[in-house]
Amino acid sequence: MTTATNEYPTKAYGATAPDSGVGPMQITRRGLRHDDVLIEITHCGICHSDLHSARNDWGGTTYPIVPGHEIVGTVSAIGDSVTRHAVGDRVAIGCMVDSCLECSHCEADLEQYCKSGGMTGTYNGTDRRDGTQTFGGYSERIVCREEFVLRLPASLPSAEAAPLLCAGITSYSPLRTWKVGPGSKVAVAGLGGLGHMGVKLAAAMGAEVTVLSRSESKRDDAAKLGAHAFLNTEDKAAMKAARGTFDMVLNTIPVRHDVVPYLHLLRIDGVQVLVGLIGPMPEIHTGVLLGRKVLTGSGIGGLAETQEMLDFCAEKNILPEIEVIAMQDIAAAYDRMEASDIKYRFVIDMESLRAA
Ligand code: NAP
Ligand code: ZN
Repeated sequence: MTTATNEYPTKAYGATAPDSGVGPMQITRRGLRHDDVLIEITHCGICHSDLHSARNDWGGTTYPIVPGHEIVGTVSAIGDSVTRHAVGDRVAIGCMVDSCLECSHCEADLEQYCKSGGMTGTYNGTDRRDGTQTFGGYSERIVCREEFVLRLPASLPSAEAAPLLCAGITSYSPLRTWKVGPGSKVAVAGLGGLGHMGVKLAAAMGAEVTVLSRSESKRDDAAKLGAHAFLNTEDKAAMKAARGTFDMVLNTIPVRHDVVPYLHLLRIDGVQVLVGLIGPMPEIHTGVLLGRKVLTGSGIGGLAETQEMLDFCAEKNILPEIEVIAMQDIAAAYDRMEASDIKYRFVIDMESLRAA
């Protein structure tokens, strides 16, 4: 377990079939390559994408799958050419563990859109060098190329930092891309893991923020999280009254749904950014778009932007609202996430897996 050339037997939790649920399994982490870092995972957030992937909601899941891409831990060994990280450093990994780092997208710090085969996902990806499947953060440790390991600012507590690695950056990136700041009116659709970070981050950037939610019970929370207004999407009159008023709708809803009511909320040249992974959309009449509304999507964020987001959250003291659970409680956590019964992100304390 301590020499750099050995493989590392590792306890993990994963799914073996769409209906298997997530349960204990043993995996092997590769021995360190020159540019690899070995990380003992202390915390891993639970993203709705984990649930989609474990159940093969999008197709394309290769079993067994070990989910988890909101990873925080401590470096316990490094390859012999590693310069960015040292043993003992507190570090983090998000949704990608590799890309070509040479194409024009990677050169532009957009590794998530790597033109050479796409980014290598932290889980359900294929290692670019040896063709093995990647396994995610529901595990004791992980081995990762040093460039894809992020530095954790000292003031960010490990458990709270974990959700920043996906929920945080996926909300942060579109806010920056479309230059949200003082004077911007931003609406966040779906107040879950991504949505609550979208509210906090947009408010910290100086925007006026409105929560769009089906759940009247979240009205008070929205204000506590920093939103200036709450719009119940079931209230048709209120939705109509709000037409044409927003610069951006950040749509985090994780199921197939009609995006047209959210397009109506945009002013001319306003943009609806879909970050919820919803698969094929119901038809949209182009007449809606002729109002010069922009409909687009956004995937996580690049390495530099993710580091920038971590530093921004440290500086502004922006932390996710979390509920820490044991690895063994994953099934109940998935059920509650599906029922939108989590305020607002589960984080697994990986000591529970070590102790098992
Ligand atoms: P989450 O914590 O479950 O939150 C989703 C929220 O959407 C819920 O809290 C709920 O908010 C709303 N919602 C849920 N079911 C709904 C339904 N049937 N109809 C309308 N609204 C519903 O999920 P998450 O982790 O934030 O992830 C959200 C989506 O983003 C997932 O599809 C995930 O796969 C995707 N994702 C994308 C990226 C990317 O790079 N683009 C990265 C990470 C995740 P209310 O109760 O307020 O309505
Ligand atoms: Zn995610």
